[in-house]
Amino acid sequence: MYITKAYAATSAASPLAPLSIPRRDPYANDVKIEILFCGVCHSDIHHVRDEFGSAMPTVYPIVPGHEIVGRVAAVGPGVTRHKVGDIVAVGCLVDADPTCPHCKANREQYSPTKVLTYNSPDKHGTASATYGGYSESIVVDEHFVLRVPENLDLAGVAPLVCAGITSYSPIRRWGVKAGQKVGIVGLGGLGHMGVKFARALGAHVVLFTTSPSKKEDALRVGAHEVVVSRNPEEMQAHVDSFDFILDTVSAPHDLNAYLSLLHPEGNLTLVGASVDKIDVSAYSLIWGSRSLSGSLIGGIAETQEMLDFCGKHNITSDVEVIAVQDINNAYVRLEKGDVKYRFSIDMATLKHA
Ligand code: NAP
Ligand code: ZN
Repeated sequence: MYITKAYAATSAASPLAPLSIPRRDPYANDVKIEILFCGVCHSDIHHVRDEFGSAMPTVYPIVPGHEIVGRVAAVGPGVTRHKVGDIVAVGCLVDADPTCPHCKANREQYSPTKVLTYNSPDKHGTASATYGGYSESIVVDEHFVLRVPENLDLAGVAPLVCAGITSYSPIRRWGVKAGQKVGIVGLGGLGHMGVKFARALGAHVVLFTTSPSKKEDALRVGAHEVVVSRNPEEMQAHVDSFDFILDTVSAPHDLNAYLSLLHPEGNLTLVGASVDKIDVSAYSLIWGSRSLSGSLIGGIAETQEMLDFCGKHNITSDVEVIAVQDINNAYVRLEKGDVKYRFSIDMATLKHA
């Protein structure tokens, strides 16, 4: 075991502050990573504030961060895929039993044995819960360590392993392709990645936003059209016309209004994790045989596929790079939707904490 610096919250009401945390020494199949950048996901806020309640109670202290990019600092003797000096990434998953049927099908995210990067029981007993990427280093089984394409800017790569894969996975599952009309709801971390992926796949992309000030950015990021969702006339113009809609909104909102925009047998996939209930009318689904789905991050193989796709298409997240000391202000801004379009923490700043 060794001690490393981190930023942690000690209760739902406390700000994040420096904390020294234990990490395990690498086992045979482990990779020790010096963290360079860590993205700030809205889920980090939900967890820090214990907003998921009994569904996923928060164990304090919590070190958030599941959008990790870093350099391999050491490897165990059994590691074959990575070597010291490689640039790698770690997303939301750090462990699972490889013999479980979901893991065998490359869908580790559904495994009952999965270990999340933070706020999951630490099966190695290093601490009461796993600690995430707002820290100097992390030790992870090599299966969960991803290769990063060499041509991409690393601050913008970090968000790919949560915001990126969470948007990419349902877009691929629902077969988004050239010639289709695709809606993305919310221009935040997940939403702006959804726009980039749908555009790269050749779809006609419409971005729905509550923030008229984001119009120009949405077009720059890749949307063909922007709809201000608070304007009923703009919404009405798109009734019955979408093949697929990806909804990334982090708060309660009117899902029925978006379901009515799908054409018959179209799908709306919800990835935004509103902690409050959202009403869905049966009529919205039945009329037109529309479907409503959820989607949870993505498996490890699919995350690697997404990173390789990003390398090929030169896609990264648009980031505002911040010092770790700015994290509490970043949370305030993220809650107001005031970020273009992901905060990425330069973890070198932790040395001065
Ligand atoms: P984010 O950057 O804060 O983006 C969310 C966007 O939703 C905002 O930028 C805003 O876009 C819109 N929005 C916020 N409040 C709204 C409201 N009251 N009504 C309508 N629109 C609103 O958050 P994120 O990091 O992309 O995460 C989005 C959600 O996905 C979070 O709940 C997060 O926990 C969840 N998540 C889920 C998964 C998964 O596996 N399913 C993975 C990661 C994250 P506009 O200003 O454009 O309207
Ligand atoms: Zn996330």
